[in-house]
Amino acid sequence: MVFGVGFIDAAADLLVQGACPGCARPGSGVCAGCARWIGAGVIGERFRAVLDMPLWSAGEYADPLTRIISQAKDHHRHDALPLLAQRLALAVAGLADALGLAGPGLLVPVPSAPAAVRERGLDFTSTLANTAARHLARAGLTTRAEPALRQLRAVQDPGGLVAAERQRNLTGSLGAVRPRSARWLVVVDDVVTTGASLQESVRALTAVGIPPVGLATVAATTLRTGGNQQNLALLLPNWGSSG
Ligand SMILES: [Zn+2]
Repeated sequence: MVFGVGFIDAAADLLVQGACPGCARPGSGVCAGCARWIGAGVIGERFRAVLDMPLWSAGEYADPLTRIISQAKDHHRHDALPLLAQRLALAVAGLADALGLAGPGLLVPVPSAPAAVRERGLDFTSTLANTAARHLARAGLTTRAEPALRQLRAVQDPGGLVAAERQRNLTGSLGAVRPRSARWLVVVDDVVTTGASLQESVRALTAVGIPPVGLATVAATTLRTGGNQQNLALLLPNWGSSG
């Protein structure tokens, strides 16, 4: 009997289900140590030069969070999704608090390529957005997730592209449909690196007359400027108490 590569990948993924997706320590789900590390992440505003609106993230894109996101996204570790969704909800809550937003609001996920959704067996950012919206609603901020963005064309793998090339690669790649009415709209994603995907999402939504009020992600990369490593991500940690 010949198994497809997809089947073998899935079987290999099942074998590691008995380990923490962050540090591979034996056990089920995210271990207490990794959960503590992630829970201590600074929730705050992260500056990105290309974005002229507030961006809030719930932690730095570093291990074990990096590994947990990768495992949940591409290695079927869906048991890590609740923790990631909770962190996204906290990032949105921080943004909402800073801007004085009251519901009802919309979370619009940055869309994944259709092929990635098929391979993963779920729409990763949509799933995070849906669960985060339920957390926020339970906490008193009426919010729902709405997949208002679509990929209009395939984009080149951004690996190896510098920021300006990334932006050229992405511009015009997304289209938006007008969602049901709400008082505000926030674009959400798992990770922000250069901000190019978020920038394209803002462009597409603004083009149909529904500009977002802000952006939120689970994690943010530490920006490096010139030869100095500068942690711009932590410059504005003005809402860290709920982390
Ligand atoms: Zn762990």
